[in-house]
Amino acid sequence: MLSARRSVLLAAIMVLLTPMLSGCSAPPPDSQGLELAEVVRSLVTPSGLEEQLEAIAQYERPSGSEGESAAIDHVVAVLEGDGIPVDVYTFQAYASDPITASIEVIGADLQPEAITYSFSAAAERLEGRLVDVGTLDDLPDLEPGTGERLVLRGDGAGRDSAAGDSRGGRSTQVAPTQAGLLDLSGAIALIEGIPGTASVDQLALMGAAGAIFVNSQERLNDLIVTTTWGTPSLRNYHRLPTLPAAHVKKSDGEALRNLMSRGTVRVRLTTVVDTGWKEHRLVVARIPAPAPDAPYVLFGGHIDAWYHGACDEGASNAAMLELARAFYQHRHQLRRGLVVAWWPGHSNARYGGSTWFADNFFADLTSNAVAYVNVDGIGQKDAKRFSANASAALVGLAATVVQERSGAEIDPSRPGRNSDQSFNGVGLPLLQFNHNRLAEDGGYWWWHTPDDTIDKVDPEVLKVDADLYSDGLAALLAEPVLPVDLLAEVDAFGAAIERRQAEAGERFDLGEARRRQVHLRGLVEGIQRALAGGGGRQVDIALVDILRPLHRVLYSPSSPFHPDPGLDSSPLPGFTALGILAEEDPASDRYRFAEVSLIREHNRLLEALDRSAAAAERLLATGGL
Ligand SMILES: [Zn+2]
Repeated sequence: MLSARRSVLLAAIMVLLTPMLSGCSAPPPDSQGLELAEVVRSLVTPSGLEEQLEAIAQYERPSGSEGESAAIDHVVAVLEGDGIPVDVYTFQAYASDPITASIEVIGADLQPEAITYSFSAAAERLEGRLVDVGTLDDLPDLEPGTGERLVLRGDGAGRDSAAGDSRGGRSTQVAPTQAGLLDLSGAIALIEGIPGTASVDQLALMGAAGAIFVNSQERLNDLIVTTTWGTPSLRNYHRLPTLPAAHVKKSDGEALRNLMSRGTVRVRLTTVVDTGWKEHRLVVARIPAPAPDAPYVLFGGHIDAWYHGACDEGASNAAMLELARAFYQHRHQLRRGLVVAWWPGHSNARYGGSTWFADNFFADLTSNAVAYVNVDGIGQKDAKRFSANASAALVGLAATVVQERSGAEIDPSRPGRNSDQSFNGVGLPLLQFNHNRLAEDGGYWWWHTPDDTIDKVDPEVLKVDADLYSDGLAALLAEPVLPVDLLAEVDAFGAAIERRQAEAGERFDLGEARRRQVHLRGLVEGIQRALAGGGGRQVDIALVDILRPLHRVLYSPSSPFHPDPGLDSSPLPGFTALGILAEEDPASDRYRFAEVSLIREHNRLLEALDRSAAAAERLLATGGL
């Protein structure tokens, strides 16, 4: 496909050639994205990156710890040393540090080494029979589209009025066990795999009293087991897990299964977690563009880590720092400001830092931010596979940057619900580059273990990865027109409507949505043609105002102001209830409740298309192009 970036460059050339037509002054030739990228790349060196990595990864950095604070002090000192404007915000977030776990096998001489998880429930000598649940793939799915509630697929609202009573506030909402599922009542589940955010909830909904997860390798990986995103609120604190969970190595899992093959095994599970309010510090560097009213690009990655976290993510923090310094040196070439944030609370507060920032700077972000660029886990030694996550409007830019820098042809994927991508409610286009070690080379096995030390980072790989960010950021910061592809976003939206219509069949009509999307597409085509005329704050903000309503509905199933559960979703996630119409009797309560959900979501969809079209019409009418 013709890359968004190439068409933007073409647009930039036209601006240079036709200043009279655009009505604005031609940009100086050195202010193009490519030229800025080149000078930034020349300033970000493997040795400079390595120096910052060593300074940061020398500390163990669980969020709120002294080590994290020392790393933050280093980042602040380097920024201030260069004269870069920096703020340090201090705030309380609800966090959970796993402390210890132990498993006592009653009547057997076996004491597996165990750890617990961030946001596991605490338990002291919880006794239960061990039940082999199989693997994570054997767990029943959660019902999608139920919003704040989590229920197993098929156990949803209207199926059984006794299910999911949450009147008491924080509860596990234990639903009746479905036919065909294991009865885990009072049992401690033994399950192979490292848990996703919802795994303990799935087991709790099956009636389990506790869980032991078995690593597929001879190691223990730290993890987080809550679906809450950021500090919980009154809306979702009931989803904090109530199930104690532990993690054991492969050989200990095999030993437990061996014992189980000979008869009933009972265990006592103890998990100790330190869960509560903790102070966090957030460093934000703000590099202004010369124009006082210029919007900005937000660039973030987490500074907290499990253990020394060299790949995850001292290396990314080092790249953020060196990139901030390089862009600051060339700030006169920026058309948009760069705001760089080192998020605390990524792990133990489950994206608590980025969510706090979204919550507390919401109005500023919606008024002045034009994109969010996330970085997580770059610099892995032996990394070979390039990929990217991007919202549809930035897929073209992501693919072009990777192709030009590495030669790799990639097909950027839809953002998952992870990694401090806390700005879907703000409605910011998203970009993240990835460069991973292949499974056949052993994969990224040290992730979330004490082995994530600086020898796992290759400064040359880190330089390649930092260069992707130099290019991506430079394009977003310096090109005359913000390089977002409106048409790609509107087309992705249209494709999602068509897929939902195919899923709905005759049961729900999305024809009106399709018609409005086609109308919007016509407007956006007109804008993309006219963008050759110029840019500036007004156009940048107008472009994001067109994208924002679409982004919120395409990527988020509920409110812009309250974070969705940390669960992956499909495009137009608010329409997942269409699946219920396909499987239920139209006379059932469950079908009818689903239908009401869909009518309301349909209103949200139409309103988003109308708002986007109105923003497009305003831009066309104001002559800002
Ligand atoms: Zn990470």
